[in-house]
Amino acid sequence: MPEMPEMETYRQQLIPRIVGRPLTQVEVTREHSINVPVSEFIKRVSGKRITDIRRRGKHLLFLLDSKDILLLHLMLGGSLFWGRDEDKPKRTVQVRLSFGEEHLHFIGLRLGYLHLVSAAEAKERLDKLGPEALEFTAASGGATAGANNGAGSGETAKPGLTEAEFNRLVAEKRGKLKVALTDQSFLAGIGNCYSDEICFAARILPVRTLQSLQAAEKASLYRSISAVLGEGVRAGGYMEMPLYVGDQLTGGFNALCRVYDRAYEPCLRCGAPLVRRDIGSRKSFCCESCQS
Ligand SMILES: [Zn+2]
Repeated sequence: MPEMPEMETYRQQLIPRIVGRPLTQVEVTREHSINVPVSEFIKRVSGKRITDIRRRGKHLLFLLDSKDILLLHLMLGGSLFWGRDEDKPKRTVQVRLSFGEEHLHFIGLRLGYLHLVSAAEAKERLDKLGPEALEFTAASGGATAGANNGAGSGETAKPGLTEAEFNRLVAEKRGKLKVALTDQSFLAGIGNCYSDEICFAARILPVRTLQSLQAAEKASLYRSISAVLGEGVRAGGYMEMPLYVGDQLTGGFNALCRVYDRAYEPCLRCGAPLVRRDIGSRKSFCCESCQS
């Protein structure tokens, strides 16, 4: 399932391609992927321009000049493809937004959706999410030190919450670390892959309870969240399907995963074999030798 770095990679790569361009045609082939009648969806979206693309957790928000918002969640198996019809992957497209000869294809939206909502509706639905672990802002002036932490867009990343705020959230939360990190009401945007990578970077086992974490471990966890998610975005996330023909960025983090989906492989830090230790219904991978 795409997580924050995958959605942020889409966002930063789509902004220069579609923002400001008129939507010349809208096609919906799966009614369940949207939330209003198809005819109403087409009427309210056709001819509009996308003024900005924002992200909240694992959601993307396409802001239209009519003030409506297209709220996207890809859930499991969803992906995006930008380009001409002849280049698109051979998978069923549920929604297609056209900008002249080029199209944004929404693929694999079975559990995922593209809902047409007002700003108030979007706010109501997203308000239950926890804080962003990492936020991106457009670098102004082009001379900002340390700029270009994003996917080639010149956007700068910074933690979405302070260490003190993080420690307060941890103190209020009960349960296992893996479960907390993937709980969208705790922190928005982290799923199975990055939660394991964060725990590995922090040298903490994902099965540990939040209450058992020492101060130094909490500090390490706080730093690791920004570091791992930032690296994920810079590397283009782990989704393997390119966003467009010639896309060299998307999926680059797949080769950088240290533990996720790497059971039996040697740990890059200590050489011990990595293990899979599911927590509840969640897939989880770790090194039981150098994480404690
Ligand atoms: Zn290890």
